[in-house]
Amino acid sequence: MTETHISDFMSIQKTRYGKCLEPKMECGNDAIRAHSVQNATALKLIEESNHVYEIGMKVVAGKPEPSLDLIGRKKASTFLGLCANHDASIFKAIDTKPLSPDDIEQLFLVAYRSVTRELHTVLEGAMRVQLGYQMLVSKGKVSADKPSAPGMEAMQHMMKAWSVWKYRYKFFDPIFESKKYSQIKHSVFKFEGEQPCLAASSFFSVDLKPWGKPFAALILNIIPSGPTETTVIFSYAGAHSGRARKYTAPVMTQKGEGRKYELSYMLINRAENFFLSPRIVDAWSGKKKETVVNACIQSVFGSQPKRVSDLMLF
Ligand SMILES: [Zn+2]
Repeated sequence: MTETHISDFMSIQKTRYGKCLEPKMECGNDAIRAHSVQNATALKLIEESNHVYEIGMKVVAGKPEPSLDLIGRKKASTFLGLCANHDASIFKAIDTKPLSPDDIEQLFLVAYRSVTRELHTVLEGAMRVQLGYQMLVSKGKVSADKPSAPGMEAMQHMMKAWSVWKYRYKFFDPIFESKKYSQIKHSVFKFEGEQPCLAASSFFSVDLKPWGKPFAALILNIIPSGPTETTVIFSYAGAHSGRARKYTAPVMTQKGEGRKYELSYMLINRAENFFLSPRIVDAWSGKKKETVVNACIQSVFGSQPKRVSDLMLF
């Protein structure tokens, strides 16, 4: 697939929906449930009785209702973004050998998986909203010829999907082909001496620009990497170093508990697709659970949660 206009992009995606999102976007195979966080190693280190916690979001009577939900480890972090062949071949270097913070191919692939998961998430969102809009149009509840709230919403989701695809197309796909992995930059550190309790594979814009315009992104992976070790990786395109470093500064300039708190706050404030060990969540008070869940919903609606001590996730 080559650089394309948004309308062409969306019509191509409509015919390819559910298909593999490999780098060239040409594979005709159906996508399978692939893990964005390594299931066998990383999630196994935080599970209890084969389960982990995630922040779930349900819509009840038109209002979003967040909750802390236990989900099976096999299902956690999965996305329908790649076919079995591409999932295995693209990520071979991270799925078949232990993660090394000095291996730039591995660091690139960890980030590439997060970007690909995000691409799948936003495409799925765009398709779903578009379908809802078309249904309203076909029932005569909304005019296709006049601006309407559902029409605008469908357009915004499309712009987001198109933006994320253009981001991967410009900054990640060429590196996958050329293997010039050093063009993606990383800040890597570890928490050592404690049992891992959190895993994440997240992608977010650090610009707060409207979708459709070029943006700088940050990719955050938190990977339980040993019985008493968690590896944290921030990744970004070299062209976005300045903005990404500014965004990660509150975490990078802290040490110890302060660093864990800043990372927790960033996760709650910006990210999704993070998973918590039942070992720690079950020990939280009801008030703390409520504070964390409410802060997540606040950030979904664009406001910054208050910096209270209960937002510490580690
Ligand atoms: Zn494929």
